[in-house]
Amino acid sequence: MRPHLFLTILLPSLRVLAADPVPVIIAIQPLDTVRADRVEVMRKGMADAFGLKVEVLATRPLPKAAWYAPRGRYRAEKLLDDLAANTAAKYQLVVGITARDISTTKGEHEDWGIFGLGEVSGRVCVLSTFRLGARGADETRLRERLRKVAVHEAGHVMGLDHCPHHGCVMQDAESSIATVDAETGTFCPTCKTTMESWVKPPGNKPPRPATFPDPAG
Ligand SMILES: [Zn+2]
Ligand SMILES: [Zn+2]
Repeated sequence: MRPHLFLTILLPSLRVLAADPVPVIIAIQPLDTVRADRVEVMRKGMADAFGLKVEVLATRPLPKAAWYAPRGRYRAEKLLDDLAANTAAKYQLVVGITARDISTTKGEHEDWGIFGLGEVSGRVCVLSTFRLGARGADETRLRERLRKVAVHEAGHVMGLDHCPHHGCVMQDAESSIATVDAETGTFCPTCKTTMESWVKPPGNKPPRPATFPDPAG
């Protein structure tokens, strides 16, 4: 019965060959209704910036625990708690996205509307498209802002704090959409080093993204 034995041995080998050599460690979690074309802009923007595959998870509702009735919006830090608790552990970076307004406490402001919030060196971040159409932005401008805010918040999760280098995507927007518009959308050399050390742990080395020229070249 040698043919039978051969098949038994071969099939598990084929399964190994078909497996993706680079695990997907970044996920986007759409919360409530978010336009699929905008989620795709985020996915591609992050995949290009980090040189990693980014998976889009099935949409789920916004958690009731995050609703802030006095202002009719959702508390971002509670959305982070929800994302951390309810996303599969295999994802090392989870980006929540919602079209609803989100807020957090900022200085003396108990409830301040924001573009996004990310845990520095944590696992989760969240952003909202609600404020990205400010100043009469068309869809092209809104998408550019969405891509920048997504890369910025994911950068926080990768261990990056705000950066003083003008044009760096990690600059503090200070709640101004004009600052977001002025950013280049890419990392300065210092931030890039930290980002790359996050995305390229030993044994997980995806191709270098073409948008980042080699500093030695
Ligand atoms: Zn920030
Ligand atoms: Zn920087």
